[in-house]
Amino acid sequence: MTSSLRVWVVEDNDPNFDLVEYLLGEAGHEVVRIASGTELEALLASGATPPDLLLLDVNLPTGSGLDLVPTLRAMPGGARVPIVVVTAHAMRGDRERFLAAGCSGYISKPIETTSFVAAVERYATDGGE
Ligand code: MN
Repeated sequence: MTSSLRVWVVEDNDPNFDLVEYLLGEAGHEVVRIASGTELEALLASGATPPDLLLLDVNLPTGSGLDLVPTLRAMPGGARVPIVVVTAHAMRGDRERFLAAGCSGYISKPIETTSFVAAVERYATDGGE
């Protein structure tokens, strides 16, 4: 059993976020939505405690979610937060690209409701290794 996790979710799409929030909430985890890079920076500027895990949409209106990785890594305690990409466009070589950007791995969209929570908990527990 995994204790309650604090999960930050970078996601601009409402239905996608709603599903993630529902699934993680049902499992007893706490979800904070971050809809943009600007919101992430505001959260960090407020002195927020780093989350147990960050879920990262790579397709944001402002560009690639991967561009936000250095911002999170630079926050106090941010170096060890597992960052998991959630993407509909995982292709050959993408996993390596995500790892090279400093992420722990990825979960595919559309979200598989029966395995999503377990995948998140696994990444939070062991970094996905
Ligand atoms: Mn998106």
